[in-house]
Amino acid sequence: MDIKILPLDETKLKTPPTDDFGFGNKFSNRMFSQKYTPELGWHDATIGPYAPFVLDPATAVFHYAQEIFEGTKAYRRPDGNINLFRPWENMKRFTNSARRMAMAAPDEEEHLAAIIKLIELEQAWVPTYPGATLYIRPTMIAIDSTLGVHASKSYLHYVIVGPVGPYFKGGFSPVPVYISDKYRRAVRGGVGDAKTGGNYAASLLVGEEAQAKGYSQVLWLDAIEGRYIEEVGAMNICFVYEGAKIVTPPLTGSILPGVTRKSVLELGCDLGYEVAEEMIDVHEMLADIQSGKVTEVFGCGTAAVIAPVGKFGFQDKEYVINGYQSGPVSKHLFDELTGIQYGRVPDRFGWTLTIEVN
Ligand SMILES: *Cc1c(COP(=O)(O)O)cnc(C)c1O
Repeated sequence: MDIKILPLDETKLKTPPTDDFGFGNKFSNRMFSQKYTPELGWHDATIGPYAPFVLDPATAVFHYAQEIFEGTKAYRRPDGNINLFRPWENMKRFTNSARRMAMAAPDEEEHLAAIIKLIELEQAWVPTYPGATLYIRPTMIAIDSTLGVHASKSYLHYVIVGPVGPYFKGGFSPVPVYISDKYRRAVRGGVGDAKTGGNYAASLLVGEEAQAKGYSQVLWLDAIEGRYIEEVGAMNICFVYEGAKIVTPPLTGSILPGVTRKSVLELGCDLGYEVAEEMIDVHEMLADIQSGKVTEVFGCGTAAVIAPVGKFGFQDKEYVINGYQSGPVSKHLFDELTGIQYGRVPDRFGWTLTIEVN
């Protein structure tokens, strides 16, 4: 793939923040984009100025939500070089999401090459601040201008990047999670295992209800029986039994297959924990919290890496986990995973791709 690199307007350059990062509202000066049509295939691969799009009001994505995205990060290593964490997994998932949403998919190697080129050009935007990273957001939207309900013929694929601060500002602190008894996120056969915007749109109302009750995240139950644990808003979920066994629900089709989830299972096993993918009944799980059998619960996803759960709210009752303290297994996994991601500990799994910038 030939990527055309466009010059930037030197008078309009933004400078990277050094401490006040926020999350998801600051972006670098450049973006990658390319287009697809059946006649030309993928074409016009360009890294140019970060800029708005001009789109026809009838553009397909606005009406029928044919869109997918990814989320991964670039980490500043102690030697000044930059790590990507299992980016091949994100490229593969982008292809799978595209297939489910009946979209053309870019070549995975070319997609990754475009991301690497963008990071090389925007290397000054990869923070050196502890715990901060450069968030990478590949996106693809359907851009036919028609109200007809069918898969679009043309697509716009783009990648934007922006620095994000540490997820936990006050240290590694537990979050309160609300278990929704009324609404469901996804059902087997639906699009729950695709990273597509509509899944998030469907979760916002419950998110607001949870916030109003004092919870920061929502845990979803399966849509058929309303009984089995699925995942948290943008994270998969793991339960620690008696400090020794890590359990997460199996990928039944309605759960997003997280890269962090997969890494936790592989790393957990390597660190000597028993790991298992098992259906988890919400009532049994809550009883196991009350009896002390469940010693820790944590969410896992690219944003927080590991997010300890302090308590669950379910049907107007509260279930506090480990006295609302984060536990040793969560901390162990967090330290090991972030150690590998930032290149502070040797990567014995071949998970990192290092971009040499100095
Ligand atoms: C992205 C995402 C996750 C976490 O996936 P990672 O690859 O670990 O970041 C989990 N659940 C949902 C719904 C997601 O969109």
